[in-house]
Amino acid sequence: MDRASRCGLVFACCVLLLLSVADAVAAIATVSDDPAQLLRQAENVEPSNHAVFNELMSRLDKVAMRLSPQQKLHLRYLEARRIAFAGDYAGALPLLTALADQTADPVLAFRASANVIDLLVAQSRFEEAFVRLNPLLDQLPQIKEDDVRIQGLTATAQLYTEAGQYDESMRYADQLIKESTDAQSACRGWFLKSDALFESGSTQLPADQLHDGTEACAKAGDTLFSLSFQHLLAGFDMRQGRPESAIRVLQANYPKVLRAGFPPQVAQFETTLATAYWKSGALASAVKFANSALKTDDNRPYSQSTASAYRVLYQVDKKFGDSKGSLVYLEKYLAAHDGYQSRLSAKVLAYQTVKQIVLAKKLQVEGLDKKNRVLALQGELDRKAAETSRLYVALLLLVLASIILWAYRVKRSQLRFMRLARRDGLTGIFNRQYFVNEAERQLRYCRKSARDVCLVLIDLDHFKLVNDTHGHAVGDRVLKRAVDACQAHLRSTDVFGRLGGEEFGVLLPECTLDSVLPSVEQMRAAIAAASVAGDAPGIPISASFGVAAAASSGYALRQLMIDADRTLYQAKHEGRNRISLFDAGMRG
Ligand code: GH3
Ligand code: MG
Ligand code: MG
Repeated sequence: MDRASRCGLVFACCVLLLLSVADAVAAIATVSDDPAQLLRQAENVEPSNHAVFNELMSRLDKVAMRLSPQQKLHLRYLEARRIAFAGDYAGALPLLTALADQTADPVLAFRASANVIDLLVAQSRFEEAFVRLNPLLDQLPQIKEDDVRIQGLTATAQLYTEAGQYDESMRYADQLIKESTDAQSACRGWFLKSDALFESGSTQLPADQLHDGTEACAKAGDTLFSLSFQHLLAGFDMRQGRPESAIRVLQANYPKVLRAGFPPQVAQFETTLATAYWKSGALASAVKFANSALKTDDNRPYSQSTASAYRVLYQVDKKFGDSKGSLVYLEKYLAAHDGYQSRLSAKVLAYQTVKQIVLAKKLQVEGLDKKNRVLALQGELDRKAAETSRLYVALLLLVLASIILWAYRVKRSQLRFMRLARRDGLTGIFNRQYFVNEAERQLRYCRKSARDVCLVLIDLDHFKLVNDTHGHAVGDRVLKRAVDACQAHLRSTDVFGRLGGEEFGVLLPECTLDSVLPSVEQMRAAIAAASVAGDAPGIPISASFGVAAAASSGYALRQLMIDADRTLYQAKHEGRNRISLFDAGMRG
């Protein structure tokens, strides 16, 4: 079969039933105005059947407002097909290409893509067609809709035959036969398979293929494909040298072909009839059909039909000895044949080019893939390394935090112990040891800076009696109260400590015997006052005070203690609850 005609045939969608236009219009008159149903109808009606198709499209235009975005895209697709069938391939191509490349709906994109391939082939843009074939085949497994798959398989099988890849073509045609949902798609499959075999140079169809194909195409009715299948059978007859048989088949179908009115197909029938009549010696019929073919095909000067028709005319003229006429036809035949052959080699070249490009791309992709895998592994390693170092840092921080916490706790307990070690447990003031240390430090400082300083020793009067009378616990409370009473009259620089039992010491810097007296007197009065207040009324408390000053006793604590103690003793002796100031005469 003429290759260019095959493309048109596939593009012509091949489900054209040879209904009369009136019948078809009547058939859709019953259709409702439901947009979905209208779209389905329009999809299934052969758009070259203008009246029916246009009727459906105008109904769709009327309900355009009610279409969903998805349905609007579908309508755009049908409109593009209408433009294509009106013969405006150049106008339809960008519309279908846009749909194929931009539509999110994979099914519609696939349909549009298959149509784009057909249109590209019809325009002899083979390289672009083959470039589109690969993505189409990649998408095919994802397409579930039977009719869409059949459309894709048809485009593929047909394009492979165009490229001279007959085995591939037959493989896809077989797939089409397997997936065919009705006699029409089965017939299409059998035609494509048989056509590939014919183009590969075979002279005969295998018997089962002949049987199954004939049966499927008979069931399909008079579709373009079933008529083309008949033409193929005639072609095989011719190859087997049986032009009469070919004429029978072709003549039986010629009226139906004329009714279908698909020009390339009509031209094919006419050319093959012309050739068959030439072979069988019926020269007048041969010339008649050759001329009809040239008329039918006059806009396709480089088709196989045109070339064959000129060849018949050339041969007839030659036979009649019309050398001038035969030369004209020979030239035309050669021109048409050359044009046809160059189209043929252009297709094969385009296929090979695209195949190389695809191969190169595949290699490049594989290379990139490997590179990417290496990069991904590298990334993974880096990520792991980063994770590990993060873990180390976290661990380190944890250890550091534990150490800090531990150090803080140690320090805190140390401080607590230090404080405890300095303080008297009962009264909270310095214990004897710490008092001595602090007092000596203070005395050193006072000596250095030649400041006055006094030491006061305090001893509670008859304290044993308190214990004996009220118990030890009350004695403890009295001790605390006495301390509180004294503290109220001391400065922050004074060093106050418990020296043991009910004896206390106070070192008062910046004081002479005279200047210290008021505050000592305040302490004495406070203790005496405490005895009548609080929770132990009636317990008389008082204390005796012995005061020594560095001015007369020196800055040595030991001497100050001795002198103050002696003075205190004197206070006790003089009747208690009183203050005694040291004077040097006491030492004697
Ligand atoms: P003086 O007026 O001569 O000082 O008579 P005193 O009874 O105060 O003297 P003494 O030294 O005989 O008695 C001191 C008493 O203090 C003896 C002891 O029971 C008591 N004492 C010492 N330490 C504490 C203490 O921590 N708590 C209590 N409740 N009593 C204590
Ligand atoms: Mg005492
Ligand atoms: Mg005492």
